[in-house]
Amino acid sequence: MNITNSEFFDVIVIGAGHAGIEAAWASATMGSKTLVVILNLDTIGMMSCNPSIGGVGKGHIVFEVSALGGLMPKLCTQSYLQVRMLNTRKGPAVQGLRLQIDKYRYNVGAKQALERHPNITLRMGMVVNILTDQKAGHIQGVQLRDGAIFYAKSVVVATGTFLQGTIHIGRATHQAGRHGEEASVGLTDSLRSLGITIGRLKTGTPPRILRSSIDFSKLTCQEPDELEYLFEFYPHKTKSTMLCYIAHTNERTHEIIHNNRHLSAMFSGAITGRGPRYCPSIEDKITRFPDKSSHHIFVEPESAQSEEIYPNGISTSLPYEVQLAYVRSIEGFEYAHITRPAYAVEYDYAPPTQLTHSLEVKMVPGLFLAGQINGTTGYEEAAGQGIIAGINAHLKHVGSKPFVLDRTESYIGIMIDDLVTLGVDEPYRMFTSRAEHRLMLRQDNAFLRLTDRAYTLGLIDAQVYADHKKEKELIQKTVAFIEAHPQIKQQLLALFIDMQSNTAAVREILGNDLSERALRTVQAEIVYEPYLARESREIERTQQYKNLKLHPATEYIGLSGLSRELQEKLQRYKPENIAQAALIPGMTPAALSLLILKTRQK
Ligand code: FAD
Repeated sequence: MNITNSEFFDVIVIGAGHAGIEAAWASATMGSKTLVVILNLDTIGMMSCNPSIGGVGKGHIVFEVSALGGLMPKLCTQSYLQVRMLNTRKGPAVQGLRLQIDKYRYNVGAKQALERHPNITLRMGMVVNILTDQKAGHIQGVQLRDGAIFYAKSVVVATGTFLQGTIHIGRATHQAGRHGEEASVGLTDSLRSLGITIGRLKTGTPPRILRSSIDFSKLTCQEPDELEYLFEFYPHKTKSTMLCYIAHTNERTHEIIHNNRHLSAMFSGAITGRGPRYCPSIEDKITRFPDKSSHHIFVEPESAQSEEIYPNGISTSLPYEVQLAYVRSIEGFEYAHITRPAYAVEYDYAPPTQLTHSLEVKMVPGLFLAGQINGTTGYEEAAGQGIIAGINAHLKHVGSKPFVLDRTESYIGIMIDDLVTLGVDEPYRMFTSRAEHRLMLRQDNAFLRLTDRAYTLGLIDAQVYADHKKEKELIQKTVAFIEAHPQIKQQLLALFIDMQSNTAAVREILGNDLSERALRTVQAEIVYEPYLARESREIERTQQYKNLKLHPATEYIGLSGLSRELQEKLQRYKPENIAQAALIPGMTPAALSLLILKTRQK
């Protein structure tokens, strides 16, 4: 076979959803010649479900992607329709920036960004085979359904919900990765042949409704916020251009759903994969919370170029006629026209305990997995993994040590640690409650936490780094100044209670040099000071726990002093050290002490 140079790449990324985009962007920015293969070039960065990015926990991940030089934050600035900061009544650690996105602008922006990157080559096609060099024991490249072969020693698989995807609408089923897009067939067998275990999960989406068929006068309008910053480092004065609304289900809606529950693919037994408990279908909600007579529906625009509306909160796998009946029972939706029916999709995923913390498959060096294929759900979770897989695919190519983020320094680190240590039994979604040290891991300090590392890796340019250092120095000086002046500190502590109303008064004391974000950081450092000190001590202890190794051959079943449940969990997860054992749900201090003793036994 005649092989031309154009068939050789440093890194190949399969898929250009939210994980694939970030993987390709990171590896290419670090200097790898990167090929991206995608089923349909026009669906790069497509939002399969809710056209929104961010929120509490998820937004923290996007800030971290931003600090690591990722593309998602830039695309968000280009394509947002409405902006809100969630949880403003709570402290800075649990607030979440959430943007309503114009999904077509996002998609076009993502395509253009990849097309214009000098190190990225795009190719439409379906990868059906991962090629390995059995003798050398490493990845060789990929083969496409159309026969083309491309070579690289690092491959990132970011195939989302497409692997053997099956769509369910009531009793009707068909093979598809998303509605209107073909499923990815063949790749699962190839992954299996490499020794990778495959499981099945499920997710769902609501029907889309024609804007002109909704009576918005019967709905409640959700006011946007005006902000100085979005996810990017540099400021951006926001201007929301489209509004979101709230509608409500009612007893009649619930009655229709209840009476037809047996027709839902979820309840008829047609679906075997587990769905996300935290993002339940409407039939699920009604079954699990029978006493609730109403549920919120967030009525959100999909794009300025489309008349379709996304009714957030009523995803279902009920048949179309039932969907139409329950949608029309909702106030404001009496004459609703469904443009696309709701559906559930089942897909293959690879249980993530097969991965290292760099997202490399343990038994297939050079093969990285990122996004929904690892059992997660959500664009942000996918982007966070994508960037780590892309960085490591590049580092593998150049023969450098892997890059790993710790759970004490980032939400991305928490997510990956949870995935590879504990695995998933339902689609994994980020919440701030997953962070042990959430006062330290805030939106406002994501750049302080990660920018140095991003710069060392070559992910951000010198100007951003210089401006970041300036901001960091100013924050440090300001905090030191406040600490040295107890009276001023008392005054500020009183003002910080309601930062929203008192910003001008705070600025009068601290001056105008601090950016809005830096002001938030100063606020958090002062208000949380005693708690941050405690979290620092806890982090030190966790670091010590990491050094207490558990032998992989340890037999936990029958280990006296441990409950049967913990014995089984330990046997299943086989933690490498005490820090990992501490993450196991249900772990007790007494059990941990016993395990610490075990690490000391020779
Ligand atoms: P995707 O965005 O799915 O991208 C996969 C990419 O891989 C695509 O570009 C595809 O073309 C490509 N691809 C697949 N196979 C191949 C192949 N063999 N060769 C080449 N290219 C290939 N998230 C939430 O947070 N909340 C929700 O409520 C929610 N509901 C959802 C409902 C539905 C119906 C779907 C489909 C998704 C839903 N999601 C939801 C999930 C969200 O869309 C995903 O988590 C996110 O898009 C995952 O990103 P990804 O990059 O892993 O995969």
